Amino acid sequence: MNPSYLYHAFGVRHQECSKTEYKGNQNIHYIQTKSEELCCPECKSRKIIRSGSIYRDIRSVPVGHRETILRMKVQRIECKSCGCIRQEKIHFVTGKRSYTNKFARYVVDLSRIGTIKDVAQFLHVSWDTVKDIQKRYLQRHYGNPALSRLEYIGIDEFAVRKGHVYKTIVADLQTGQVVYVGEGKSASALDEFWKKIRKAGAVIKAVATDLSAAFMSSVRENAPNATLVFDHFHIVKLMNDTLDKLRRQAYHQETDLLKRKVLKGTRWLLLCNGEDIYDACHRNRLENALEMNAPLMKGYYLKESLREIWMQVDKEQAQRVLMKWVEQARDSKVPLLMKFANTMTAFRSGIIAWYDYHISTGKLEGINNKIKTMKRQAYGYRDDKFFELKILSLHDKNYAFVG
Ligand SMILES: [Zn+2]
Repeated sequence: MNPSYLYHAFGVRHQECSKTEYKGNQNIHYIQTKSEELCCPECKSRKIIRSGSIYRDIRSVPVGHRETILRMKVQRIECKSCGCIRQEKIHFVTGKRSYTNKFARYVVDLSRIGTIKDVAQFLHVSWDTVKDIQKRYLQRHYGNPALSRLEYIGIDEFAVRKGHVYKTIVADLQTGQVVYVGEGKSASALDEFWKKIRKAGAVIKAVATDLSAAFMSSVRENAPNATLVFDHFHIVKLMNDTLDKLRRQAYHQETDLLKRKVLKGTRWLLLCNGEDIYDACHRNRLENALEMNAPLMKGYYLKESLREIWMQVDKEQAQRVLMKWVEQARDSKVPLLMKFANTMTAFRSGIIAWYDYHISTGKLEGINNKIKTMKRQAYGYRDDKFFELKILSLHDKNYAFVG
């Protein structure tokens, strides 16, 4: 076979082909290293003695819908210069792998248009081979994200499986890139991250988190100069949860069946933004429900006014609005609302810190949604490291693998 074809088609440069067989669906090329190219794998000396050889089958890229096998005669070499006895080095394969580097690249390219299963079926290789090739590629490109310029981060957790298996992710809020994936959702999930941050010499300016005590203490301990910003979507969500509890309490206390029915159907009306309810019939219904139950009505108006905290012209004004809100919640004498007022007081500085840094964990919600679809496509990702690498590569749409 033409040496330049051997090189351009299969990336084989130092070998020559002595014969080709066509068996079944395979083109089998018998190749061996040219005599003048043989050298010691250790010291590169040409003063060598050949001491036996073995054949090794190596997959390469298919040609004409047929599999390509490079049947390589691998020389055992005895070096007269350094004395080592070794097999010759094969430049187009990495280590003991059964496929060429060019084949691995072909798998990577195909992985952008098909799932692991598709690619494995198409190339007649195992699912694990395709996955391993993807994994090595992901490790090389995304395994060690650059951290030295990291300044604004968001931390959030997500459920890996049903039950209580969690992972913690850290995202660069400027690029939307996931820069770290940790085990669990306790403070120790972030230990490795801080180690990497110190090593990279990064100075974190602000961190957006939910109200997780574990994340908070971890940030305070490891980045004491960073400003903690409590994500306002999480706070609004907590308020919504409180309001829904009030609705359920009202429902259970109500003895009039007709009124119960009204309360039951108002959940989404209570939780959506009041100004978004245009429909007169819906408005009516909401008002009826609120009139039935005083705690529910108090809760509803507190929920509606909560977002004003993030709509002020400056931090001082916001501080006043927040304290006023807390006062009203306490005055309500509704236990659930008073409890929420305490939460707001405890997290006051982190809530108001939004005026110093307009950051939130919103980007992480998007990432979480992507992870959810990924989990469904890949049967749960039994290989944890592979799953982690897939998450680290999520931001890179140009190189995304299917599945
Ligand atoms: Zn040598």
